Amino acid sequence: MTSLLEKPHGAAPDEPGRRSAFRFETITRLPRGDGGKGRNGARYGRTGIIHTPHGDIRTPAFVPVATQSAMKAVLPEAMKDLGAQCLLSNAFHLFERPGPDVLDEAGGLGRFMNWDRPTFTDSGGFQVLSLGAGFKKTLAMDVTGMKSDDVIAEGKERHAFVDEDGVTFKSPLNGARHRFSAEISMGIQHHIGADIMFAFDELTTLMNTRRYQENSVERTYRWAQRCVVEHKRLTESRTGKPYQALYGVVQGANYEDLRRHAARQIASLDFDGVGIGGAIEKRIIGNTCAWICDEMPQDRPRHVLGIAAVDDIFACVENGGDTFDCVAPARCGRNGAIFTRDGRYNVKRAEFKHDFAPLEEGCTCYTCTHYSRAYVDHLLRARELNGFTLATIHNEHFFVTLLDDIRASIDEGDFDGFRDRTLTRFYAHGSRG
Ligand SMILES: [Zn+2]
Repeated sequence: MTSLLEKPHGAAPDEPGRRSAFRFETITRLPRGDGGKGRNGARYGRTGIIHTPHGDIRTPAFVPVATQSAMKAVLPEAMKDLGAQCLLSNAFHLFERPGPDVLDEAGGLGRFMNWDRPTFTDSGGFQVLSLGAGFKKTLAMDVTGMKSDDVIAEGKERHAFVDEDGVTFKSPLNGARHRFSAEISMGIQHHIGADIMFAFDELTTLMNTRRYQENSVERTYRWAQRCVVEHKRLTESRTGKPYQALYGVVQGANYEDLRRHAARQIASLDFDGVGIGGAIEKRIIGNTCAWICDEMPQDRPRHVLGIAAVDDIFACVENGGDTFDCVAPARCGRNGAIFTRDGRYNVKRAEFKHDFAPLEEGCTCYTCTHYSRAYVDHLLRARELNGFTLATIHNEHFFVTLLDDIRASIDEGDFDGFRDRTLTRFYAHGSRG
């Protein structure tokens, strides 16, 4: 990677103070309310605008995941049409293929995939570390009540090993051995060129012991310090590039004291925003956001990594989350699971074979205004790729619009009413979504 980092860059002149191209502006703060989980009942929910070199993101916002610089089966033009403000790609996958130098040569992630709006990359930490533990594929399945730092499913091999400096892992693509560290992740993300990047952190699981979580939080802090130094060096040396913002990631699993401690550590460093990451139990997801907000300056945007359950989104927005990403809408859609205001259903159920209504009555997305349940059901059963396209467009539209509506409800002073009405209706039929 060293040669990659030393590669000279374009001739465009550097603009002094270009960091000002990134900033967060608060529009409306939620008034105090029952759902506030912060210190003394503080409620951190808000609307705002994240200004980036590639345009603004009005928050709260849903960030669809274009893992390999592509939404599976949906063109960026269609993502724009359905209202997506920004996309998130994965540094680890782009590192493996096609390689960060290709994206750099293309003029950055957005230009590479013909998307002129803001982009995010995650650090690669989640993917690298989930090769070691934390993914169902690798973990032993029945882990109820277990606490162990080395739980691996029978017959599976651990592919990632953490040490003080970083992570060594075996590529799932070709078996090659690779190394990720704070500096390498920063180099990769700078070459990919997204507007918002994340510091390299260690992912733990809820099964890790308390002692391991403590050590991991300290290690993540040391990696965060190294990320800030390397980010500054790369920002200064790669002149003529649009400013890339860096978010520090707060870990600490479900321990309040560790989360608060980690938040204070991240707040003490020169980050542009914060990522709320790692294993979180659903019942304390709102609390976790609030503990972190209690300890952080309020002028930094806050991204909650990888959630898309409708009730979790409300709990996180209420307690300070500004942006949210998740692969679930697309992944569920490809399996036929359709999100609607009345809950989630599977369009491949037999009853829809002759149903010529849209996926969701009243939905304004391209799929619902042009195609029927019967047609989408047929395409998915026949494994026709257009089925993936149509189901994904509807589901991404559902989450993008949900966050748009939440934002409007905060600005209009009706968040509590909107939350109660939406959740009652969504979960009325026992939906899992
Ligand atoms: Zn629709």
